Amino acid sequence: MLTHAYGFASATSPCRPMDIERRETGPKDVLFDISYCGVCHSDIHTARSEWGPSRYPLVVGHEITGIVREVGSQVTAFKPGDRVGVGCMVDSCGSCEYCAQGLEQFCDKGIFTYNSRDQFGQVTQGGYSQSITVQEHFVFHMPDSLPLAEGAPLLCAGITTYSPLKRWVKPGMKVAVVGLGGLGHVGVQIAAAMGAEVSVISHTMSKQADGLALGASAYYATSEEGTFKRLANQFDMILSTVSSTEDYTSYINALNKTGVMVNVGMPAEPVDVYVRALSPRRTLQGSLIGGCAETQEMLDFCAEHGVRARIETISGDEITEAYDKVVHSQVRYRYVIDASTLGAR
Ligand code: NAP
Ligand code: ZN
Repeated sequence: MLTHAYGFASATSPCRPMDIERRETGPKDVLFDISYCGVCHSDIHTARSEWGPSRYPLVVGHEITGIVREVGSQVTAFKPGDRVGVGCMVDSCGSCEYCAQGLEQFCDKGIFTYNSRDQFGQVTQGGYSQSITVQEHFVFHMPDSLPLAEGAPLLCAGITTYSPLKRWVKPGMKVAVVGLGGLGHVGVQIAAAMGAEVSVISHTMSKQADGLALGASAYYATSEEGTFKRLANQFDMILSTVSSTEDYTSYINALNKTGVMVNVGMPAEPVDVYVRALSPRRTLQGSLIGGCAETQEMLDFCAEHGVRARIETISGDEITEAYDKVVHSQVRYRYVIDASTLGAR
């Protein structure tokens, strides 16, 4: 079954129309018509082969929402017409120690939404397309109060920030979110909804009003003289969402003596860390999206607390230009592709 899409022929090509194959709906599959797909910085890293060679031709996109068209004979949780979402994963083994704990994202046989090889030997193709077939376990219900456009970015930006925040935040904790981009602007809202006292640490002052409106009570810019001196030993938790390399040691020094810094940004280049900054008893941790049950929990949490992405809706022909704006930190705060524009030929 062919579907219209926009994708990349190589690491240096623009995002262009292409048709891709979707499998027929299997017994446990949900086929849905895509309404919207967010543009995550990971799409850019992958489309441009910044994390190593990608598999071309490639359609990226893993913040996908839409309406169910058809379900397989064994599907129980969805029916045609349901509002649904899919994030970064489309399959896993279902039986390893991680899958058993709801940590499907760590499964050695896990299959990501794009640029993975699926169980049929095909390269998975993502959400910059008009339909997708996904196994039921990896499909989520979009709560009625979450619009499909503003809700789409939650499928990656939402779960990536919700998971570590839920792991660490207690009401009243001082939390700093580094980088007010797609992940960061959702993370600020979630941390505030969890009762944290939230600060934004950006590289410029230009987004201060937005940071405060999103729920932060303080806003700092690393471009301002003396910022790190002022922030020394301040935070219980720092969540770094930065897509390029940063001076991690300065951030670690902004933690209090027992604080934790969770890094979710994935710059392509290695970063130097002066590990002595971790003494007295600071923690540096990674985090990768979140499991399936936790993703549904996050969507319900965001619906309940009014958390949603601030978006700019774009057409297929605007994706290439949008990528450059994301890289230069000019997006406010997530581009979301209107899938109805992907069919024009
Ligand atoms: P984004 O929208 O581009 O946001 C990244 C932010 O980094 C920018 O808005 C900017 O915020 C900040 N930044 C600091 N220094 C910068 C510089 N020199 N150039 C450009 N930006 C700079 O990206 P995103 O979609 O939120 O993704 C952020 C990172 O997380 C990416 O590396 C992505 O691959 C990764 N990611 C990881 C996971 C995971 O599971 N761990 C999931 C999704 C994405 P300020 O302007 O406020 O400084
Ligand atoms: Zn993503």
